[in-house]
Amino acid sequence: STRPKVYNFGAGPSALPLNVLEKAQRDFLNYENTGMSVMEISHRSKTFENLLNKTKQDLKTLLQVPDNYEILFMQGGGCTQFSAIIYNLLAAKRQQIPEGEEFNPPLDYFVTGSWSAKAADEAKRLYDNINIVIDVKKSKGSFGSIPPKEEWKLSGPKAAFVYYCDNETINGIEFPFVPDVDPNVPLVCDMSSNILSRKFDVSKFGVIYAGAQKNIGPAGVTIVIVRNDLLIKPKSVNDQDNGVAIVPTMLSYKVFADNNSLYNTPPMFSIYICGLVLEWLLQLGGVGAIEEINKEKSKKIYDLIDKSKIYRSPVDKRVRSRMNAPFRIVPEELEKEFLAGAEELKMVQLKGHRSVGGIRISMYNSVNMEAIDFLINYMIEFEKKHAK
Ligand code: PLP
Repeated sequence: STRPKVYNFGAGPSALPLNVLEKAQRDFLNYENTGMSVMEISHRSKTFENLLNKTKQDLKTLLQVPDNYEILFMQGGGCTQFSAIIYNLLAAKRQQIPEGEEFNPPLDYFVTGSWSAKAADEAKRLYDNINIVIDVKKSKGSFGSIPPKEEWKLSGPKAAFVYYCDNETINGIEFPFVPDVDPNVPLVCDMSSNILSRKFDVSKFGVIYAGAQKNIGPAGVTIVIVRNDLLIKPKSVNDQDNGVAIVPTMLSYKVFADNNSLYNTPPMFSIYICGLVLEWLLQLGGVGAIEEINKEKSKKIYDLIDKSKIYRSPVDKRVRSRMNAPFRIVPEELEKEFLAGAEELKMVQLKGHRSVGGIRISMYNSVNMEAIDFLINYMIEFEKKHAK
């Protein structure tokens, strides 16, 4: 390769597998011998349709997505889904309530970190019946744990959905289980930063979404996996009986499903790169294989932190993320030196999120064991130099 080697621990956009980038470089000017770049071909062409369908099929294979689910490629990132879920799932819930009956079902939110807090804030802005199942910062003083079921305040079957964020990228908190909720209420999950990192059972969910730029590909495309009973034809103000906000066409899961994600021009280059990443993952042995590697990578990091006298994890051991490990150095003045020393050795993007400070090691699928071992070695040496 022609670029200088770095170890990229960025939280997102994050590193892509080098062989994916090299393949993209080879294809860049001339995709599949069309004489055009993938960015230059029509999204309605057979060539692109094949690419899209193959990408979908590979994702379906990797996640064992059941046939009663649709895979959508949408835009606007994870943040747009904070709003999209509300419109689509209120419309779905509306179908279950007899016409003329009052309609104001609660939406249940787990707030376990910065991203679910943001999603809940958007929900409160758009709708007036938001039920916070638990807000860990409020009840415990800071994000860093997931309290037991006895402390959850779920609304039960009347909720239109239950929302949670599977992996809190900023706070390094990952659910070690799927929350047990009423089986008739769709479970909605933000998996932006841990999708494809471990096995999970898609059939437990109503909607799963993930911005691509952490574990799947470049920014610009958001993967949405939605159970097909939740696909509701969008209404307009001219329809009788609304009772719910009208779904903008570009946020409608039904519109995207009916059009195979080609209602409008999709982010073709992003989808193409996602496809290459999925092929890479399949060759590696799939999600089960990468899960074992991810377990080992994160175990090495947390074992080191727990043995250390200067590194401190703010997260309860039971809910530590395998993807993002934030930590502090005691004393905090050493953090600057830690980051500068790491940069010198070409270990980049280790700085913690600006809202929490400290250091954050992001170790998505494309971060290999060599990178982890290199970083661990540096952390050990750094501690030796500074431990009293
Ligand atoms: N959800 C999670 C868990 C994230 O980590 C992020 C981004 O970092 C988002 C949502 C927001 O995604 P986007 O920037 O694609 O809107």
